[in-house]
Amino acid sequence: MTNNESDLLAEVDRIARDVVGPNAAKVDAEGAFPSAAIEALAAAGVLGLTSATEVGGAGLGLRQAAAAVERLARECASTAMIVTMHFSAAGVIEKLAPQALRREVAKGRLVTLAFSEAGSRSHFWAPTSTATADGASVRLDAKKSWATSANHADYVWSSKPVSAEGLSTIWFVPRATAGITTGPRFDGLGLRGNDSTSITASGATISESSRLGVDGKGFDAMMGIVLPTFQVLSAACSIGLMETAVARAAQHAATTSFEHLGSPLRDLPTIRAYLARMRVQTDMAKGLLADTLEAIERARPDAMLRVLEVKAGAGETATNVLDIAMRVSGGAAFRKEVGVERLFRDARAATVMAPTTDVLYDFIGKAVTGMDLF
Ligand SMILES: Cc1cc2nc3c(=O)[nH]c(=O)nc-3n(C[C@H](O)[C@H](O)[C@H](O)COP(=O)(O)OP(=O)(O)OC[C@H]3O[C@@H](n4cnc5c(N)ncnc54)[C@H](O)[C@@H]3O)c2cc1C
Repeated sequence: MTNNESDLLAEVDRIARDVVGPNAAKVDAEGAFPSAAIEALAAAGVLGLTSATEVGGAGLGLRQAAAAVERLARECASTAMIVTMHFSAAGVIEKLAPQALRREVAKGRLVTLAFSEAGSRSHFWAPTSTATADGASVRLDAKKSWATSANHADYVWSSKPVSAEGLSTIWFVPRATAGITTGPRFDGLGLRGNDSTSITASGATISESSRLGVDGKGFDAMMGIVLPTFQVLSAACSIGLMETAVARAAQHAATTSFEHLGSPLRDLPTIRAYLARMRVQTDMAKGLLADTLEAIERARPDAMLRVLEVKAGAGETATNVLDIAMRVSGGAAFRKEVGVERLFRDARAATVMAPTTDVLYDFIGKAVTGMDLF
């Protein structure tokens, strides 16, 4: 580990312990955006973790971003998902935006992905929203169905191409652009603090120079830049949730007793077996994430397959592990005493966040049978 890396991850650990953890229950209960945590992460340089040193970032990679997201998710998955979306959008800006914007993101300007739409739903690669040329300006009209941090971040935005062939074009759209409005407050089952609100663009005008990359080539950025980042960091988020679930369920089993028998819950072999399954499944997901990172770093031939697998694998495992955590912890968990109920709800999001688990299973099935994904 370099000094830069260990210093920044130590900062993540400190902020997770001192700011993110203490605020997590309130963020969930009130559906409140974790502003204190995001401000602390920005101030510590964590939001610039993956930006290049030449623009003032830390110049670290996906491995370190995954470590940061996992640590945050152990305390508050809403915060971890906000950071996941930030790194996913920041990757596009790092590769395709001018220096000035890259510098701002490296300094901590929060960004997010505004891809999903009311029309094409979870099929984010096929936007139905439009971008229309108007001299040196472009008019955006869209119904975005979800964007994490919608009222707090600026957007990496997809639309149909202006005039080129292709499925999409990507833009940088500041939240304050006239014609952009956000929908009703996000009131989700889980990840309740992440402000995943809908966004409408109605004649929103941006400069033609706000385009990120070439008209019609958005699909390449989605698949080449966003997909590996989002898949890996979503998996890291799921793993952080599982780690806390294992720890809390084990703690509950060790410290809660049947007084009439004089024995703790952990004396029951079934409870121990459930805890063992949780541990094994969590470690299997961690193994898949570790192998995915290695496959990406070494540009192994199976890297894309691993990228497709890692979010589906970790996301589905997390829903299973959290289901077991609720059972092991009994009615006490149902009444929120054990602290796994929030994690149980938060873990559900990975299944439906695009690419959804079912879409990933379809892609993986196509890959293993030698078919084209699209
Ligand atoms: C907490 C949260 C945060 C989010 N943040 C963002 C964000 O920051 N940016 C963003 O762009 N989006 C975001 N999303 C949206 C997300 O990425 C998905 O687009 C959205 O959850 C899809 O919901 P839907 O109802 O449109 O699903 P639908 O597309 O209607 O899917 C319904 C069901 O059909 C299945 N399905 C769909 N297509 C196929 C297929 N081809 N094969 C098999 N099954 C299929 C799905 O898996 C799902 O089970 C967020 C979502 C959540 C829940």
